[in-house]
Amino acid sequence: MKYDVIVIGSGPGGYVTAIRASQLGFKTAVIEKESLGGICLNWGCIPTKALLKSAQVYDYLKHVDDYGLKAEAIDKDFEAVIKRSRGVAQGMSKGIEFLMKKNKIDVIMGTGKVKPGKKVDVTDADGKVTEYDADHIIIATGARSRELPNLPQDGKKVIGYRQAMSLPEQPKKMIVVGSGAIGVEFAHFYNSMGTDVTIVEFMPNVVPVEDEDVSKAFLNSLKKSGIKVMLNSAVESVDTSGKGVVATVKTAKGEEKLEADILLSAVGIKTNIENIGLEDVGIVVDRDKIIVNDFYQTNIPGYYAIGDVVPGQALAHVASAEGITCVEKIAGLHTEPIDYGNIPGCTYASPEIASVGLTEKAAKEAGYELKIGKFPFSASGKASAAGNKEGFVKVIFDAKYGEWLGCHMIGAGVTDMIAEAVLGRKLETTGHEVLKTVHPHPTMSEAVMEAVAAAYDEVIHL
Ligand SMILES: Cc1cc2nc3c(=O)[nH]c(=O)nc-3n(C[C@H](O)[C@H](O)[C@H](O)COP(=O)(O)OP(=O)(O)OC[C@H]3O[C@@H](n4cnc5c(N)ncnc54)[C@H](O)[C@@H]3O)c2cc1C
Repeated sequence: MKYDVIVIGSGPGGYVTAIRASQLGFKTAVIEKESLGGICLNWGCIPTKALLKSAQVYDYLKHVDDYGLKAEAIDKDFEAVIKRSRGVAQGMSKGIEFLMKKNKIDVIMGTGKVKPGKKVDVTDADGKVTEYDADHIIIATGARSRELPNLPQDGKKVIGYRQAMSLPEQPKKMIVVGSGAIGVEFAHFYNSMGTDVTIVEFMPNVVPVEDEDVSKAFLNSLKKSGIKVMLNSAVESVDTSGKGVVATVKTAKGEEKLEADILLSAVGIKTNIENIGLEDVGIVVDRDKIIVNDFYQTNIPGYYAIGDVVPGQALAHVASAEGITCVEKIAGLHTEPIDYGNIPGCTYASPEIASVGLTEKAAKEAGYELKIGKFPFSASGKASAAGNKEGFVKVIFDAKYGEWLGCHMIGAGVTDMIAEAVLGRKLETTGHEVLKTVHPHPTMSEAVMEAVAAAYDEVIHL
């Protein structure tokens, strides 16, 4: 029962770490208490995208006339939509099972708890405890939906994301608290399915981490699609004693009561760091996160942590990159610390949002003199042909040295376009180099080149 590396948790942090560890020649085991693939594959990234695909197909069907087509008796089957999403998640989890076998990684099903002396106790479903030893123990136990004290989740009327993607019946009316990526993705899905959706957001903007131009454009599109949005507002309490819910919302104008069948709380995450032995080992935790150095070592030698349990963006690709960096460092490779300033963030509502680097406001606050270019998809041939003219690409450069400070996109398919900006920034590309990189025509990606051209007064199609 001795391993070189034991990973606790098999999300995109844990399973990727295990695969890279095995590639590097370590005898590796991964411990999982629920389903292989973690939140991302089972209850996060993937099943939500499956739901959103159904919403997109349905939205296209509702507008077939726009494409010169005819379709009659268009309808949806909510149960089947949910079933498809759950099926996609299960298929992905099976895929991880295959990858574990392929990479000769032992999968130990049970709940892991770290102990002093580089040991892990695993309690299986029957309550049997087995002790394992490892030279390196990597904690990747992830996170769950955060519960606000005034919005306790009963899982039926006040729900978190797990229930939101597996409801037995479609609610007629829904309140979504929080307009971050998770909140707006569900708001969009349910609105497309025909639910009457109201978003309540505490901040003055929707998708508050995004550039203000993107937030404004997205707000317009939410409203156009029929979603009601209450900004600068907070749900103070929720009464679930009746048939549905009645939420008391504090707004700038006073108190308002909102009635709905269901309230979805999408106000962030709470890390899974309780009862995993951190105190017994003496691992330092601060503000709900395990404290680690640039290579994910905790304060106790031999114990590491990666993914949602450590500070940094709580995203699947970040968790995976952290795990790879962690084991490459253990293996003695000359690996670089992750640049958290160059992590792309994506929101898969309609329109999609994708961004990397500084917003205009943050760049100004940092004291840069800016060159900004914007190119609307309304001027893109591909967007016109596809009937997706909404949105734009906005690029921000430092006027003095030409550093690409930020890139912000809103529109159809932009989540598949942002990697160009991430790579460009990683390679310290200047605006002129992007301009001289020939982009294929007709593609949505031409808008990146044109936005850069706009920043340097060389735009062609505006
Ligand atoms: C609705 C939703 C949509 C999302 N969409 C995206 C997206 O589009 N793109 C993106 O990048 N990110 C997205 N995320 C975030 C992403 O899912 C997380 O950042 C990512 O899953 C974190 O990976 P992780 O490996 O740290 O943890 P997790 O994926 O949370 O995995 C942790 C695993 O550890 C297991 N575990 C916990 N405790 C123990 C224990 N004691 N013993 C054994 N096993 C244990 C859990 O069962 C779980 O399987 C989304 C999240 C949600 C909720």
